[in-house]
Amino acid sequence: MLENIRIVLVNTTHPGNIGGVARAMKNMGLSDLCLIEPRRFPHADASARAAGADDVLESAVVVDSLEQALADCHLVVGTSARSRTIPWPLVNPRELAAIVSPLPAETRVAIVFGREDRGLTNEELQRCHQHVHIPVNDQFSSLNLAAAVQVITYELRMAKEMDVSTAKPRWGTEWDVDLAEGRELTLLFEHFERTLTEIEFLDPDKPRNLMPRLQRLLLRAVPDKLEVNILRGMLTAMQKRNQR
Ligand code: SAH
Repeated sequence: MLENIRIVLVNTTHPGNIGGVARAMKNMGLSDLCLIEPRRFPHADASARAAGADDVLESAVVVDSLEQALADCHLVVGTSARSRTIPWPLVNPRELAAIVSPLPAETRVAIVFGREDRGLTNEELQRCHQHVHIPVNDQFSSLNLAAAVQVITYELRMAKEMDVSTAKPRWGTEWDVDLAEGRELTLLFEHFERTLTEIEFLDPDKPRNLMPRLQRLLLRAVPDKLEVNILRGMLTAMQKRNQR
């Protein structure tokens, strides 16, 4: 289960932090590290801070977009040091571990961590099924990146040690059809946006929060592959009808 959890770091500035994350991950038994456009990598500071977790650094995959990082993931968790514009399903690390641990082994989960200076953007957070926040002193709420990874992966490890696997999965995953993957959800959201613009339900000049709210609704449902196909078939029918 820990092997199926991908740690995704967005635009990390300091290579030392990447090394610190690799070390934190290996300590807790995780190995899937994905870096989205790191400022400097590979770098001597990363290797130094990895302190023996060089294998995690060496196997790290570097990509240039969040879509690529999430393409094959079923469930995506975004980390946030503060609250954002639209409320989103939010848990603490222990609650997250209780949700993730009982998932079937083949479920691929990504946990996304933000930039040192400004975290994740709203668009990035709106791509996530679930948000996780580490409870902290609200006068001083932001942890170092590697420390945040350590706390969250520690809870995942603890849940495994305590074996909460008999708990019933909270996400609808014991299902007749496989869950949709990240790439299918990205295409679904783009299809919605295009179609709703064509039928003039969505005004690109005044989009308000329509797409984020629609994404939140769809992500909350954790749709499977067939459900995504049904929705996309409906959208295509609307587009055809609209063109006539
Ligand atoms: N100033 C930024 C904080 C960035 S800290 C902001 O206000 O958003 C860098 C990253 O560490 C965050 O993007 C997040 O991934 C993680 N992190 C730091 N503190 C956290 C917390 N309290 N809960 C969850 N993640 C946290």
